[in-house]
Amino acid sequence: GKGAAMVTAVARRLKAQRWEVDQTLASFVLTTEQLYQVRDRMRRELENGLRLETHTTASVKMLPTYVYNTPSGREHGNYLALDLGGTNFRVLVVKIRSGRRRSVRMYNKIYAIPLEIMQGTGEELFDHIVQCISDFLDYMGMKNTRLPLGFTFSFPCRQTGIDKGILVCWTKGFKATDCEGNNVVEMLRDAIKRKNEFDLDIVALVNDTVGTMMTCAYEDPRCEIGLIVGTGSNMCYMEEMRNIETAEGDEGRMCINTEWGGFGENRELDDVRTQFDREVDQGSLNVGKQIFEKMTSGMYLGEIVRQILIDLTRRGLLFRGHITERLKTPGIFETKFLSQIESDRLALLQVRSILQHLGLDSTCDDSIIVKEVCGTVSRRAAQLCGSGMAAIVEKIRENRGLDRLEITVGVDGTLYKLHPHFSSILKETVRQLAPKCDVSFILSEDGSGKGAALITAVARSICDRA
Ligand code: BGC
Ligand code: MG
Repeated sequence: GKGAAMVTAVARRLKAQRWEVDQTLASFVLTTEQLYQVRDRMRRELENGLRLETHTTASVKMLPTYVYNTPSGREHGNYLALDLGGTNFRVLVVKIRSGRRRSVRMYNKIYAIPLEIMQGTGEELFDHIVQCISDFLDYMGMKNTRLPLGFTFSFPCRQTGIDKGILVCWTKGFKATDCEGNNVVEMLRDAIKRKNEFDLDIVALVNDTVGTMMTCAYEDPRCEIGLIVGTGSNMCYMEEMRNIETAEGDEGRMCINTEWGGFGENRELDDVRTQFDREVDQGSLNVGKQIFEKMTSGMYLGEIVRQILIDLTRRGLLFRGHITERLKTPGIFETKFLSQIESDRLALLQVRSILQHLGLDSTCDDSIIVKEVCGTVSRRAAQLCGSGMAAIVEKIRENRGLDRLEITVGVDGTLYKLHPHFSSILKETVRQLAPKCDVSFILSEDGSGKGAALITAVARSICDRA
């Protein structure tokens, strides 16, 4: 009768709706063939970044770090460390002991960096940093001890030594003026002079990936790769000096900060990117830059999700076709919410309550779709990181002329650590795309702080010997 006809009509509409959602998400599903392509193109860019004739135009910058060795375990002493570049700014005292009572102890304080300072002038930013250091030294009662300092600065810097580096470009949420093209260590020294309250001995400029690698290598000597998948996305590894044409010397190894987040700036990912990736890029502080980072890191995944949800809503497939102000607000889907929504232990009702908490009124069907959207976007991110990692480990294996490579990656970052599926998809992709490598992953505990101190210790002991 009439009722049955209506039920079929509804079923048909739902099916059509389902089909449209699936179509939209299909553009995020990568074939194995595409993953191999990403791996191979990443490999080519790694090589380009190392070579003199090509490094200026390579999308993967391959920056020398002047870190020649992982820790020996004999490092010791007290150090000051700064950590700038994630969500917060931190100042730390790190006490490293060697010998039978080997240990690392840390004291730290976290300071917010207000948006107007992140995006104000360089002088204001560095004055703020020095103000925080001053507060910390007062708090610790250490104003008069001139400790050696390691500065973890998680942005691309062109280094010409362990204690100097020119900021190539800001990434993530930073955009302070008059910094790009300048030596950030000098900027810090100048700000300390302006303050004229205390003196510091700035020994090392450190990328967070390198700090992470060093921290993990302190426990496991097989760790020769550092990976960050948090607000930003990046990786470093130990490369042969003979392959690094942009730094003097042919003996031994040096850690290279790949800055793989820039991959795609030469259009290498154009056939993988979607309309939603382009929208996220257009709405960012650095249009056209950090293309790989914008597909793989915590600062942007939620934005991709939000763009998809807006599109589905506009087409009447979600939220009863009603776009709220909330949905139009950038940044609402933080990594921790994505992680919660995708948790398998969560019932759909709980997904709905998270959405409710975000200010989004959902039906049960909506919550199913939102969960699928999140899962699709984060899966692609993990696969892309896995493909990049496969390129690196395979390069290291070839560098060393090995049939099989056993290596450990030290990892940090909220997306990797908090997300319920990200790390396992990443590992699975590496296994598939680099079958001759046995890659282990260990989590770093506070790599930026500890690592900066370890690098400072290593750099110091070289100075002592010289
Ligand atoms: C920066 C890298 C950094 C990464 C993780 C990226 O945006 O360019 O230098 O290692 O974020 O913090
Ligand atoms: Mg960090």
